[in-house]
Amino acid sequence: MVVGIGTPENACPSGEPPAARLRSKCAAALNLTGQRATIRVMARFVRRVPEGDDRERMMCADCGHVAYENPKIIVGSVVLAADGILMCRRAIEPRRGYWTLPAGYLEMGETLEEGAVREALEEAEAAIAIEGILGVFNVARIGQVQIIFRAHFADPARPIFSPGPESLDVRLFGWDGIPWDQIAFPSVNWALEAWKATGSGPIGAPVGNPVYDARGVLGLAGPPVGLQSSDQP
Ligand SMILES: [Zn+2]
Repeated sequence: MVVGIGTPENACPSGEPPAARLRSKCAAALNLTGQRATIRVMARFVRRVPEGDDRERMMCADCGHVAYENPKIIVGSVVLAADGILMCRRAIEPRRGYWTLPAGYLEMGETLEEGAVREALEEAEAAIAIEGILGVFNVARIGQVQIIFRAHFADPARPIFSPGPESLDVRLFGWDGIPWDQIAFPSVNWALEAWKATGSGPIGAPVGNPVYDARGVLGLAGPPVGLQSSDQP
């Protein structure tokens, strides 16, 4: 099955006989390498099982380059101030208008901590300082691993924040003021509860998925759980 990456007239960018083609050229065309490659020509990709593998992968139809799809890493923070926890009201889908923690996809070249700091800056225009990992959550159904830090404002005496382009509103909420009926994703609840368990004391070992909520650990083949895949970032 030919899928919609590129167009039929676009060939494998290597332009050489299959045996001589270099995998790295397809990777560059797809910008999978993390380098500054620009997408000029998209290869034609098909879904098939590579030799020696046990599942279907996206492969370049021309040279056999395999574009592996693996889970994405989300980094985010529970940011504490004297007046409460920093939360962002989403300006983008999915879950526009619902409240979340500053979090997002880790970028190539970033450490986990750098990614979490960047997300707080982008979504809440907040300069934060990371304290440690609060929780690591599986959201296997949609191929995500979420790493949530505990953090505080870089200048605790001046907790400055405002909505970034992806936020409608940014506020500090005390625990009882958190808009629990307007939380964007289950993992936001898990992270908040992980914070509640530690408060401002020692963080200890990171918590994992809560045992009472199987939504994160059901695989793609699991039964429907009344939640759309678009319900997660
Ligand atoms: Zn190719």
